[in-house]
Amino acid sequence: MDRNAAQQALRTAQAVCFDVDSTVIQDEGIDVLAAFAGVGAQVAALTANAMGGSVPFEVALAQRLALIKPTRQSLADCLAAHPPRITPGMDRVIARLHARGTAVWLVSGGFRAMIEPVADRVGISRDRVIANVIRFDAAGNFADFDPAQPTSRSGGKAAALTALKKQHGYNPLVMVGDGATDLEARPPADAFIGFGGIVVREKVKAGADWFVTSAEELLDALH
Ligand SMILES: [Mg+2]
Repeated sequence: MDRNAAQQALRTAQAVCFDVDSTVIQDEGIDVLAAFAGVGAQVAALTANAMGGSVPFEVALAQRLALIKPTRQSLADCLAAHPPRITPGMDRVIARLHARGTAVWLVSGGFRAMIEPVADRVGISRDRVIANVIRFDAAGNFADFDPAQPTSRSGGKAAALTALKKQHGYNPLVMVGDGATDLEARPPADAFIGFGGIVVREKVKAGADWFVTSAEELLDALH
């Protein structure tokens, strides 16, 4: 698909799925959480490994959470200290899609507890969030993550989008994101728009149907 076809897909999309970290927000949530817990450098190294695809996603996720060991309280404190920083213009892109009757979803390998405040800020219903779930024990200490969430595994975003298409019949469905896991979600996504407004990843730029570096470009296509 070329750029014009991707723009047409965006204009006619029945659903648009956005990645969150480094797309709708300017940070990587797990890195913010790790820095808050004082293990930023160790977790950043594991994140780089996970993005390089050398370690299965679920293994990298477990390794990082084992280092961070977030508690119910520390997660709340982290969010209070570092509220999500929305990428300039992304709230308007999402509002414009909603005004056109397009269903907008957030599909993230990050954590639901950190994504829900983002959804609230950009006007997306929390039941249109697909993300990982950190589980705590009765005392509020870290237990594990929910392995039933599709985004907890390699290929998880593609699985999540396949399920969305099956449930809702969305056609076309457009995926927007900065990462390799976002690119790998097309197919089932009918079009993939690479977002390089926060970080440019060459593999994503090369593979995208359309690559943008600002929310303004998306807004222009939606006029
Ligand atoms: Mg991302």
